[in-house]
This record gives sequence, C-alpha cells and structure tokens, in this order.
Amino acid sequence: MRKMIIAGNWKMNKTPSEAAALASAIVEKNPSPECEVVLCVPFVDLFEAKKATEGSKIKVGAENIHWAESGAFTGEISGAMLKEIGVDYVIIGHSERRQYFGETDETVNARIKAALNSGIKVILCVGELEAEREDGKTEEVVSRQVKAALEGVSTEDMANIVIAYEPVWAIGTGKTATSQQAEEVCALIRDLVKGLYNETVADDLTVQYGGSMNAKNAAELLAMKDIDGGLIGGASLKPDDFTVIINAAK
Ligand code: PEP
Repeated sequence: MRKMIIAGNWKMNKTPSEAAALASAIVEKNPSPECEVVLCVPFVDLFEAKKATEGSKIKVGAENIHWAESGAFTGEISGAMLKEIGVDYVIIGHSERRQYFGETDETVNARIKAALNSGIKVILCVGELEAEREDGKTEEVVSRQVKAALEGVSTEDMANIVIAYEPVWAIGTGKTATSQQAEEVCALIRDLVKGLYNETVADDLTVQYGGSMNAKNAAELLAMKDIDGGLIGGASLKPDDFTVIINAAK
C-alpha cells in the first residue's frame, strides 16, 4: 500500500531548545495525523525531537548520514549512531548537499546502502537545475540520478525508500512547479522504478514533491495522482502552515 508522507526539512535551523519548542508545537497541533509525518532535523536536535515526539505518531529523521560504519571520518555521523537515537528516516542527496558539499550520484548510492543496512528509511532527493529544465534535460537528469542512487538496492529494500522530486529551481525560491510539471516528473520516476524493479514496487513507492510547497499550494499538488506527499523546507518551520499541509495530505 502506497503511503502519503509529509516530511519537514529543517535544514540548518533551530538550536536544540528551539527544536524542542517547534517539535512540541507540531505534535500538539497534530494529535492524530492521517498521513505519515516526519521531522528531519539537524543532528544536534535529534534528541530533543525524539523526546518531543515520544508517544505521538510523528517520526524523526536526520538530514545526512555517512556511508562508513565507523572510523576516521572527522565530523561525520554513522547509521548506527542515528539508529541508537531512534531515527526513522534520513534525507539523502538533497540538492544543497549536491551543490555545496560535493555530493555525487556515487556518494548518494553509498549513503543509501548505509542507511538501509542500519534499518533507517531513506528519503532520496532528485531534481534538475533550472538550466537543465530549459535545455529539455529534466528527464535525462532525473533518470540518471534515480538509477545511480538505486544501483544495488534490492527489491525488498525498496519498501524503505521514498523518492522526493525536488526541482532545484523551486527550492527556497518561492517558485513552485505547477501541479502538472510536478506530476509529470513524479510519474516518470514511478515508471522508471517499474522498469528497474516491477509494477508492485512502483505502485507502492511514495513519490513526494518538494520545492516551495506551502499552505496555499499544497492541496493542489497533493491531489495529483503520482504525488504522494511533500518534502517541505521553509513552511515546515511554521507549525500552523505545516499543519495545513499535513491536513491537505489525507
Ligand atoms: C527542501 O529543502 O527540501 C525544500 C523543498 O525547501 P523549500 O520548501 O523551502 O523550498
């Protein structure tokens, strides 16, 4: 069964005390969400987010993971470390990591395998740059990213993968893809997964849209056939707006 998932990406915002207050406010406003809700927060906020969501249906995610199990990787965080805190999801391949931190299709694939090996679900981000869309390369870019990211991922493990289509030109810019543009690429991703795996895996896959989703445009985007949720940046920091999006995802 395909799951509707609304995930917040807090990025590099909120200190631990601010995170505790924000997560508590979101829990309070959403005592029984009808979709899966995930708060993806900075590493130092994970403890507070776990504490604040305890006893609720809201899940907690990280924003990155290292591919090695342990070792000499100063400043990095492993799957086992995240798992022990009770992290349920991790965002991998966000365009900000690809753009500013040298993330490649290969490192995305390695991080995905590390997350799956640690029992952590993955929100894999893919999406084209504005220039790539203008050059008619959206399909080529997204297909390459999806195929490379899923290289060596088993059919069984696909139950633990969510794919978020995030056109880079729509992230944090206030420019949202039209519901038709978003639907077209989300459907393409599902079709690609059908070719790589099978129809059941494709039907069960949650494909999110991300890119300036907000309280005003969420209902229209989430009503599309192949859009099964959202990855939300800016609006996930505002409990009222985030709640409107959660309620639009019934
Ligand atoms: C994101 O960071 O994944 C994102 C979609 O951000 P925003 O909603 O702010 O565009």
